[in-house]
Amino acid sequence: MEKINEFRMTVWAKSINEGFCRAAVAAFAAQCDPTVEEIGDIKTAVSEAVTNCIVHAYKEGDGRIYLSFQLFADGRCRITVRDTGCGIEDVKKAREPLFTTMGGDRSGLGFSVMETFSDKVRVRSRVGKGTTVILEKVLRGKRP
Ligand code: ATP
Ligand code: MG
Repeated sequence: MEKINEFRMTVWAKSINEGFCRAAVAAFAAQCDPTVEEIGDIKTAVSEAVTNCIVHAYKEGDGRIYLSFQLFADGRCRITVRDTGCGIEDVKKAREPLFTTMGGDRSGLGFSVMETFSDKVRVRSRVGKGTTVILEKVLRGKRP
């Protein structure tokens, strides 16, 4: 399917930027004339992926989040959230509902939320190198 638009941005992995990432993807997705529900879904999924970069990826020191949004002619969105942080040892386990390495602080539901609100979630990670989360969703929008 033909790609019709794209944006890329880099932000520091600071919690203040979580809202900025949510707003950026929502503003870009608006060109598909999405429903309120679709916009909400995309913001929620992106928010979980970005939050993971902020709270897990860069435990020691500063880091960056690389966000990209590719839009295809059929309304399919591919949103990539990448960090160059600590990486995930066992991705399969990390994706299980309620699995967390931050017990007490977090509920371990981030990946489950991403799966619920996207059509497809892919995770690539290497310990010490970083993590890439790819979220895909078709925005059918308000087209009749
Ligand atoms: P919640 O999202 O409910 O606050 P959580 O972040 O622990 O809790 P998930 O988002 O499902 O739960 O992530 C599961 C686990 O995967 C995390 O506890 C963490 O160990 C690991 N993880 C997720 N994203 C990253 C990342 N970008 N870098 C390093 N580790 C990560
Ligand atoms: Mg999380």
